[in-house]
Amino acid sequence: MGFSGFRVLKEGLFGQKGWTPQWRNPDPKDEYDIVIIGGGGHGLSTAFYLAKEHGMTNIAVLEKGYLGGGNVGRNTTIVRANYFLPGNSEFYSHSLNLWEGMEQELNYNTMMSQRGVINLFHSDGQRDAFARRGNAMVNQGDDAELLDVAGVRKHLPYLDFENGRFPIYGGLLHRRGGTARHDAVAWGYARGADQRGVDLIQNCEVTGIDIEAGVVKGVQTTRGSIRAKKVAIVTAGRSGQVAAMAGMRLPIESHVLQAFVTEGLKPVIDHVVSFGMGHFYISQSDKGGLVFGGDLDFYASYAARGNLPMKEHVMEAAMTLMPMIGKARVLRSWGGIMDMTPDGSPIIDKTHIAGLYLDCGWCYGGFKAVPGSGYSFAHLLATGEHHAPAAGFRLDRFRDGVGLMDEEGTGAQHNLH
Ligand SMILES: Cc1cc2nc3c(=O)[nH]c(=O)nc-3n(C[C@H](O)[C@H](O)[C@H](O)COP(=O)(O)OP(=O)(O)OC[C@H]3O[C@@H](n4cnc5c(N)ncnc54)[C@H](O)[C@@H]3O)c2cc1C
Repeated sequence: MGFSGFRVLKEGLFGQKGWTPQWRNPDPKDEYDIVIIGGGGHGLSTAFYLAKEHGMTNIAVLEKGYLGGGNVGRNTTIVRANYFLPGNSEFYSHSLNLWEGMEQELNYNTMMSQRGVINLFHSDGQRDAFARRGNAMVNQGDDAELLDVAGVRKHLPYLDFENGRFPIYGGLLHRRGGTARHDAVAWGYARGADQRGVDLIQNCEVTGIDIEAGVVKGVQTTRGSIRAKKVAIVTAGRSGQVAAMAGMRLPIESHVLQAFVTEGLKPVIDHVVSFGMGHFYISQSDKGGLVFGGDLDFYASYAARGNLPMKEHVMEAAMTLMPMIGKARVLRSWGGIMDMTPDGSPIIDKTHIAGLYLDCGWCYGGFKAVPGSGYSFAHLLATGEHHAPAAGFRLDRFRDGVGLMDEEGTGAQHNLH
């Protein structure tokens, strides 16, 4: 079933009775060419691009819960291509290009809103660093504008510019950045993959990976065993646990990241604003809620709920930056499990087990990567070759130290990312 303005109008006039389910609900087959473990954004986009770009459709996505119930439906929806280091910048640039064509490609309203991302700075040293980052972004073919205080004031008049501790010196504006509706992205890719013949199998937890003589043969699941020529692990915060089923220990720690939303308010924040010094960022959803978050909770965990000290920290940072927020009431908060790598950059690679592939380590920034990751991972799975924009995301960089991408400059301490 396609979507169009005409269709929306017609359904509105006739009681919304003509809509059909967005995807089938098939039983798993005995065997597939490729089994993708994990029905989050990355697993679904991988399945979509395998079908669309490589004509491969004998594929199953196995999801232990429901599609989009993981981090893809828990994030704060920020999309941007403002990475600095070679290896990252070309990948996120490619991903942003895919975002810009996504709604047409999927025939799905993902509510992509390029409202601009502004990263604030508060010292001369930080201004230099952001000027350098902006130049790298422009050289990559993306956009960046360095704003002085007056420039920031024009866009964000409600900030506390003379804050004693963090006076605002300016900001880096990335106009093509913005937000998109997170679960619509999962649904759009799910629908697109299903339409092309991919089996999306929910409530199907993978409990084991079958390997014979160093070659992957399939998976054990709560819905029986399934044979596969290739198996792709795309399980975000659970990557370490699933890879352990194949006897692998990944260079990944799982940490909680929290987010918050206020009651719906009239439009007040037009951009995505990032206050790095306070570990705080914010945007306003289309429903009017102020959506914001901060840093990781400072312990490794698989519990998708956060601790109170981080809540307090985020609220303090919010009040420091924009005292007006004190009048808003927080409606909800939640957490997601982040797959943190030592250099803060992801992994898209084969493993030492023939036919077993990895797409993980997206840390707290994998939503913006959903299209790019799916595209590049599909390329690797279909051709056996790394896709050029993602060629740096190799697993062996953690073994030999060559090619590490420490984007945040925080070294190997996960809770400082
Ligand atoms: C609070 C928060 C804010 C964030 N904000 C942003 C942001 O603004 N911008 C941004 O770019 N990124 C952001 N992120 C990060 C982003 O959401 C993640 O990096 C990304 O969603 C991870 O990839 P995914 O969508 O495939 O993960 P998921 O949606 O978590 O998908 C993995 C799936 O694997 C399934 N699974 C796990 N184990 C098994 C198993 N054994 N068998 C079968 N299935 C299994 C899970 O159920 C899950 O559905 C944020 C994350 C959080 C939590």
